[in-house]
Amino acid sequence: MRVAIAGGGLAGLACAKYLVDHGHTPIVYERRDVLGGLVAAWKDEDGDWYETGLHIFFGAYPNMLQLFKELGIEDRLQWKEHTMIFNQPDKPGTYSRFDFPNVAAPWNGLAAIARNNDMLSWPEKVRLGVGLVPAMIKGQSYAEEMDKYSWTEWCDQHGIPENVTNQLFLAASKSLNFINPEEITATVMFSAFYHFMQEQHGSRVAFLDGSPPERLCQPIVDYITERGGEIHLNAPLKEIRLKEDDSVNSFLMRGLEGAEDYEVSADAYVSAMAVDPLKVMLPEPWQKLDYFKKMQGLEGVPVINIHLWFDRKLTEIDNLLFSRSPLLSVYADMSNTCREYADPNKSMLELVLAPAKDWISKSEDEILAATMAELENLFPQHFQGDDSAQLLKQKIVITPRSVYKAVPGSQQCRPVQTTPIANFFLAGSYTMQEYLGSMEGAVLSGKLAAHAIANNPSASDSGKSAPSLSRSPSLTHATTA
Ligand SMILES: Cc1cc2nc3c(=O)[nH]c(=O)nc-3n(C[C@H](O)[C@H](O)[C@H](O)COP(=O)(O)OP(=O)(O)OC[C@H]3O[C@@H](n4cnc5c(N)ncnc54)[C@H](O)[C@@H]3O)c2cc1C
Repeated sequence: MRVAIAGGGLAGLACAKYLVDHGHTPIVYERRDVLGGLVAAWKDEDGDWYETGLHIFFGAYPNMLQLFKELGIEDRLQWKEHTMIFNQPDKPGTYSRFDFPNVAAPWNGLAAIARNNDMLSWPEKVRLGVGLVPAMIKGQSYAEEMDKYSWTEWCDQHGIPENVTNQLFLAASKSLNFINPEEITATVMFSAFYHFMQEQHGSRVAFLDGSPPERLCQPIVDYITERGGEIHLNAPLKEIRLKEDDSVNSFLMRGLEGAEDYEVSADAYVSAMAVDPLKVMLPEPWQKLDYFKKMQGLEGVPVINIHLWFDRKLTEIDNLLFSRSPLLSVYADMSNTCREYADPNKSMLELVLAPAKDWISKSEDEILAATMAELENLFPQHFQGDDSAQLLKQKIVITPRSVYKAVPGSQQCRPVQTTPIANFFLAGSYTMQEYLGSMEGAVLSGKLAAHAIANNPSASDSGKSAPSLSRSPSLTHATTA
């Protein structure tokens, strides 16, 4: 079968990869001149990379890790010490750590929390532990049920002291979905908690050893094209054209730079675009269907990714850092964490600014000034006196609509990969799978879409064995529609 896929982010690429494993021929059409979508990156005039987002891989990413293995590129993941490091706003320039000992889960996580006495008092730890018992017992199904509540509402109902949220969950919420605990659905927090606590290395992080387009997307492209698939850049989908029975007749592609629009036909069609562009492109007859109507409740959340190059080293820490600052979320010194960006003498900080809704319309100068002011609190020793650290250059990437905003009620708006239209499928981290708006979610959604297409009655039998899904048992609900 020939399968046309609109969108060359991780979901579209993963879908194409698993379609070739099923013996089919995917053709990916990507709107931009770079693959990767939210993991896209570019080189500046000096040859330094800057990225759409600071990206972290977790031990609890089974499908992503399996993909690395299948591509033979596992050595590109640089695993870090199993710890979570938080800045301490009340003690500028100092850190508080949650160190995970080398024992089985969930004991390593519980020990990490028990041994940290900077951020939570013992009564707070006990209250939190008691509140989390149902989540530990019921797992992902409890996470799904809690989509009724924001994280703050859930904490209030379970007597979790406000200080616990301020100390711990504000940073977690900002890093997981770029919004605050009053807005984020409790589902996201419990899902993360469930996956991290389930296996010993679940919350351990890895950085890619270079830029995502070259070090992750390119090997997927090679895999696809070596097996007969195609990837087209600068190929925006303009319109989904229908047959009389409302199934897809063709994709109408926009011709660029004066070229004529052109039509592409295939046996099956996939949207691997983000939910926002898909919503505006839905053909009119489809808009009446409940399946598509519900998607109107989803929209991308704004976020800003900031890169700052300094004339010296600001830190030697080779790991992800939680800033716990009002403006910023997580950050890392990429000159320590990433082989290709390494520099023994100078820092390159990559910082995520979130929530960003009040910042996306501001000028770069304003964003930069506010960020630099916060760095004085994060690294006071380098921003005092005459010998203050000098900013050499910066790059700021603003994404007005990134991953879907995970607010209460959004779970029921997320569509499964099989649509009511026989020859049309969805992939994308916003579609239903239990890893939310993440790279793992994108890869899993692409894999689920490929399985759904391969199991479609109209699919020809390739005789090839199906690739296996890495998932926890509770994922079954995401595959059965
Ligand atoms: C700042 C930031 C930090 C992040 N950090 C992490 C992290 O640490 N860990 C993690 O797991 N996840 C992280 N994420 C989330 C992760 O990047 C996404 O969940 C994932 O990459 C989404 O992939 P996707 O393929 O579903 O969607 P997208 O990446 O949005 O891909 C959609 C693609 O469709 C294309 N497209 C759109 N319109 C058209 C059209 N008309 N025709 C053809 N193509 C079209 C787009 O150009 C894009 O390439 C982060 C995201 C951001 C923004």
